[in-house]
Amino acid sequence: MSVNHIRPWRTIERRKSRQIMVGNVPVGGDAPIAVQTMTNTDSGDVKATLEQVLAAAEAGADIVRISAPDVAATTALREITRESPVPIVADIHFHYKRAIEAAEAGAACLRINPGNIGDDKRVKEVIKAAKDHGCSIRIGVNAGSLEKHLLEKYGEPCPDAMVESGLDHIKILQDNDFHEFKISVKASDVFMSSAAYQMLAEATDAPIHLGITEAGGFVSGTIKSAIGLGQLLWMGIGDTLRVSLSADPVEEVKVGFEILKSLGLRHRGVNIISCPSCARQGFDVIKTVEALEKRLEHIKTPMSLSIIGCVVNGPGEALMTDVGFTGGGAGSGMVYLAGKQSHKLSNDQMIDHIVEQVERKAEQLDAERATEETAAKETAAE
Ligand code: SF4
Repeated sequence: MSVNHIRPWRTIERRKSRQIMVGNVPVGGDAPIAVQTMTNTDSGDVKATLEQVLAAAEAGADIVRISAPDVAATTALREITRESPVPIVADIHFHYKRAIEAAEAGAACLRINPGNIGDDKRVKEVIKAAKDHGCSIRIGVNAGSLEKHLLEKYGEPCPDAMVESGLDHIKILQDNDFHEFKISVKASDVFMSSAAYQMLAEATDAPIHLGITEAGGFVSGTIKSAIGLGQLLWMGIGDTLRVSLSADPVEEVKVGFEILKSLGLRHRGVNIISCPSCARQGFDVIKTVEALEKRLEHIKTPMSLSIIGCVVNGPGEALMTDVGFTGGGAGSGMVYLAGKQSHKLSNDQMIDHIVEQVERKAEQLDAERATEETAAKETAAE
């Protein structure tokens, strides 16, 4: 029985979209919402770009986008796509030849707007290259770069103009019998983005890539994205996302996952539930959580840990977490395992001990999942 079955107020009904493949990652349909980021190195620098790709993949990115503005970049893509553990999206603006080179270089997806490539012959060449090399396409409408005729028609960037632009690009692909595409309608304004995405979700069954563009620095961008993307995801809209931050791509991935984790849409690693702390705390909650976040970065198993300063909220939170610690008096607190009181622990041993408990629990959960998967496979084979 799923948690949502007994707590229906947690249910999110996802919009039904078609599924496409970005390399080996399914996007849309009932596939998990994929988390993306984008490198910010010189794309021609294989070593630096690959390092960022690997770091993003290690942090959990399912797909990584790389800008491909010139031949040096599309040449470097060959080695990068060969070495990357995750599919690479090549970001192209206008230059149809770069799109063809990127497809040949192993990109799993081209981010390109077919209406911006030029004449029909060029569009057909790009679509042929995408088909020949198994690439999908992302149409990326941006409020800041709408077509001139739409700006004249609508007077300024607005949701209607963005969706019309998106549907025009979709039509070009469909007229060329190309259906492996997803689409985004990004704006830096949360209201405009949200309205555009809601309209788009009604107008097409293509998978939707969510993003608030140029969202800002780490704090403001995270908040804007959490509000904008969070609201859409809560409505069931969105099959893949990128949180755009003026920050390290790894931070974008972490924020993306945190948004999905908050809505119960994806689970990865340890979800730490901690109190803000106050004079009642039995230990330094803030320092402890900081230390645990670092020490538990290697855990990928979805699980929960509550770190609560005192008994006001500690036992209640521990009831719902895999591992819990609640501060008490006299330099010690209580460890909870699977929601039940387990043993007392002195504060000066807590970090090492909690890390150990979490690692043990992760191993146990992994083993349980492996057993379930084997049983499911055997049942399917019967
Ligand atoms: S749980 Fe206890 S320590 Fe934490 S904020 Fe609440 S009262 Fe303060």
